[in-house]
Amino acid sequence: MATIAIDPRVSSGTADFVASSHKMFIDGRFVAAASGKTFPVYNPATGEVLTHVPEAESEDVNRAVAAARRAFDEGPWPRMSASERGRILWRVSELLEKHNDEFAELESLDNGKPFSVARIADVPLAADMFRYMAGWTTKITGRTFPISFPGDFHSYTLREPIGVVAQIIPWNFPLLMAAWKVAPALAAGCTVVLKLAEQTPLSGLRLAQLFDEAGMPPGALNVITGFGEGAGAPLAAHDDVDKIAFTGSTEVGKLIVKAATGNLKKVSLELGGKSPAIVFPDARIDHAIQGTASAIFFNHGQCCCAGSRLYIHEKIFDQVVEGVSHVAEDIKVAPGLDPSSQMGPLVSDEQYKKVVGYIESGLAEGAHIAAGGPVSGVERGYFVRPTVLTGTNPKMKVVQEEIFGPVVCAVPFSDKELDAILKRANDSIYGLAASVWTDNLTIAHKVSRGLRAGTVWVNCHNVFDAALPFGGYKQSGWGREMGEEVLNNYLETKAVTIAL
Ligand code: ADP
Repeated sequence: MATIAIDPRVSSGTADFVASSHKMFIDGRFVAAASGKTFPVYNPATGEVLTHVPEAESEDVNRAVAAARRAFDEGPWPRMSASERGRILWRVSELLEKHNDEFAELESLDNGKPFSVARIADVPLAADMFRYMAGWTTKITGRTFPISFPGDFHSYTLREPIGVVAQIIPWNFPLLMAAWKVAPALAAGCTVVLKLAEQTPLSGLRLAQLFDEAGMPPGALNVITGFGEGAGAPLAAHDDVDKIAFTGSTEVGKLIVKAATGNLKKVSLELGGKSPAIVFPDARIDHAIQGTASAIFFNHGQCCCAGSRLYIHEKIFDQVVEGVSHVAEDIKVAPGLDPSSQMGPLVSDEQYKKVVGYIESGLAEGAHIAAGGPVSGVERGYFVRPTVLTGTNPKMKVVQEEIFGPVVCAVPFSDKELDAILKRANDSIYGLAASVWTDNLTIAHKVSRGLRAGTVWVNCHNVFDAALPFGGYKQSGWGREMGEEVLNNYLETKAVTIAL
């Protein structure tokens, strides 16, 4: 194994875990890849290798799916009482809380995000998701129906787990995405094969240990590490998988849909976005400045719902651009484990080059820089400065495409005509989220109705709760994560009619 360089600021428990020999979780056991292959995991703050994890390929996928199949067809998980299933999920939430800071350190080391943010956002929200879904296990019910078919019948529906679920997640919120995926599937009584993102596998592997500790029956949750083509593709195409849930790019989402056609497994997708934030002239300006800056810069812009198109009424355009630019310039960009860090590095060299490439393409097409720019000034690591672009036009790549980095395009709009600004805001292949900044009740409601997006925030952005459904219109996805609605992704409805 290559040298392992762990930041001296992490606790000894985290350092020991990172340096340990990592194993996947298949059929209740911690195992290496069948081939024995591993791949390196990098620290994005330094570009150095942190550790190595198993590289799953088809054979490992087959083993994990077979384990999940057995656990579904014969094992205790779908058969145990709803209350007992809920208790195990609740235990996982308690264990996450107990190890809150350790998980925050792992997220910071592996993804680059500030430790201070991960400990108050990523980890508590993940724990909350397990607790919320623990509550749902006992509330999944069917209905009765007064049917009019001639005769005397008793008709009702049963809500049954869909079966073996494959789940593929991205690297932007490694632990939270795992929680969003596995908690509802397990609450529904499904068994799961979760493939972690190759860039950020550490917190998911540690989560598997917590499941083991919480008493998860073998095979009910399997966690594998590997690449998209080597592990994700065979998982998505697997005939013994009944359902696939994917979060990631729209491009890969389309591949998942194709891969699912073999056995017509059910598909849910949470994909990209290019979310508008619209600031009206009556908005509380300071609040809107802080809020729209955080809409794009939170998590380094690596959020599918990042407010990356900032539409500002012309009367306040200069003031808001200046304000957001000040916020951008004041953000302390430093390694996530540095206590002063407000923005860490991007997750990978590939992502760094992609984001810098977008900033450069915007400049080449005639955009201006109000803050930030393509040069980070930090010697090593994948750091990008929070960047504000003006002078764009709707055809530019920076306005149309998802950048997935801390880059916002500020665009003025000239009147209060709601239809015109709605048309511009909706001019995107995506429809994940949007925010509206106004104190005018009529504008708030009308714009919320007119936006073609799965989430609309008014005078806020990036507010999430386990109870609130989240997902996209248009090419931002199929189905919803979280809330009661996500359970629909993992349940079949059976209608039973009894002649009396
Ligand atoms: P990003 O571009 O943000 O890395 P991706 O959509 O490429 O997002 O990746 C999200 C997840 O999808 C990762 O776990 C990745 O390994 C997986 N993935 C990538 N390509 C494929 C594929 N062809 N089939 C299945 N999963 C894939």
